Amino acid sequence: MGRAFVYVILGGGVAAGYAALEFSRRGISRGELCIISEEPVAPYERPALSKGFLLPEAPARLPSFHTCVGANEERLTPKWYKEHGIELVLGTRVKSADVKRKTLLTATGETISYKILIIATGARALKLEEFGVNGLDAENICYLRDLADATRLVGVMQSCAEKNAVVIGGGYIGMECAASLVINKINVTMVFPEAHCMARLFTPKISSYYEDFYKSKGVKFIKGTVLSSFENDSSGKVTAVILRDGTRLPADMVVVGIGIRPNTGLFEGQITLEKGGIKVNGRMQTSNNSVYAIGDVAAFPVKLFGEIRRLEHVDSARKSARHAVAAIMSPDKTGDFDYLPFFYSRVFTLSWQFYGDNVGEVVHYGDFSAGIFGAYWINKGQLVGAFLEGGTKEEYEAIAKATRLRPMVKDMIELERQGLGFALSITQQPTPPQPVEITSSTLALEKPMYAWHATAGVVLAASIAVFAYWYGRRRRRW
Ligand SMILES: Cc1cc2nc3c(=O)[nH]c(=O)nc-3n(C[C@H](O)[C@H](O)[C@H](O)COP(=O)(O)OP(=O)(O)OC[C@H]3O[C@@H](n4cnc5c(N)ncnc54)[C@H](O)[C@@H]3O)c2cc1C
Repeated sequence: MGRAFVYVILGGGVAAGYAALEFSRRGISRGELCIISEEPVAPYERPALSKGFLLPEAPARLPSFHTCVGANEERLTPKWYKEHGIELVLGTRVKSADVKRKTLLTATGETISYKILIIATGARALKLEEFGVNGLDAENICYLRDLADATRLVGVMQSCAEKNAVVIGGGYIGMECAASLVINKINVTMVFPEAHCMARLFTPKISSYYEDFYKSKGVKFIKGTVLSSFENDSSGKVTAVILRDGTRLPADMVVVGIGIRPNTGLFEGQITLEKGGIKVNGRMQTSNNSVYAIGDVAAFPVKLFGEIRRLEHVDSARKSARHAVAAIMSPDKTGDFDYLPFFYSRVFTLSWQFYGDNVGEVVHYGDFSAGIFGAYWINKGQLVGAFLEGGTKEEYEAIAKATRLRPMVKDMIELERQGLGFALSITQQPTPPQPVEITSSTLALEKPMYAWHATAGVVLAASIAVFAYWYGRRRRRW
């Protein structure tokens, strides 16, 4: 038994949905594209699972959050795929792949062949078993990666009102789930080994703002230790969590958010891997010309940083998907993916965005007591990352733009004083003048920029950076 398609997307998550929309916009014929997904539903906006989906009142439910509503685009329901002649093979796991023969074998025994394959298998949640903790099939231990997990979590939460939950892990999933548990009137204790929450991204100062906010909602934090075992009742349900330092936490439910692992297994030994993911070039193409990779599973060159990164965020999934399809369908008109890393989260009434890279020196700004604050990261004299909590759309756009421009910053005190105003001043720059004949490279432009900034201050430096960036873009287009 077998079927053949021109394009096959393996995986039916966020990236698959955005790729499908891009294929349809660029014009494919009926029956050319197929999406194979282990999940039984059409692609959806996964971030909704830890936010709207967990609300006690008027929770988000499919079909309301099918892709691509998260980017204010069309909502691709199963009907949409049918109308566009895109085959959805749902509830079907691919169990092996043969990139030489260009075939995939499903768990139902079907062979699906392709001319072009897009790997969009995302990642799976790391399980406590992988860290040597046993006895984890208890019905009140929850993970959160897909719709089935979220549905199960809702059921467990509903049986635990006014009771105790222990959240293991202080990253995105832990923080977002803890907030949802509180909203569902559950007492929450968070346990993680790091010194502060969101340790991979936040500075201690930023973390302590969020931890204080969570504490004001009743959340307790136990930091610098890990879970060592569980106590269970006769039915196998967890009744308490035992920590490495001996602390015993009574628990009616446990939520585990300890990271993810990209789903690369089908391709190991067949195509090149890097940074735990599938290595692609700036066109999202793997070491095999007929195979592309997008989303969480792809390790791609981030031009801004000059290195390969694998990102685990929805914006990168959406944009890498679009870029791969552009590269496949319009190869002559598509350059290398030029992505500005963007992460965000929303918890309680809080909302933050981050752009770029969190390396180098940090300058905090704003009013932490008023809940409008942020940070800039300066590496080798250039602004490389920016964070903002409580901003407006324009302010978030401003920090994004400032990060992309990478202006030189010499005077940290002045930067701190200007705060958000620094990023806003960049977006408010008048259109740069037409360039006179300049033969030096963008890199060379940074030299006079640096010198000028030393005397004229941060804002003037930024305006030159705007020009350098704009000029660089013009040159790239020529
Ligand atoms: C609960 C939650 C909340 C999140 N919130 C945010 C947020 O606020 N901000 C943010 O930036 N990011 C967030 N993310 C991350 C974001 O959702 C991911 O970056 C994004 O989903 C990645 O898209 P993807 O298509 O690469 O992978 P996924 O969306 O994970 O899709 C992968 C798909 O491939 C399928 N698959 C895998 N292997 C096979 C196989 N062998 N056969 C068939 N199908 C297979 C899976 O079943 C799945 O459907 C969140 C993630 C989760 C889980």
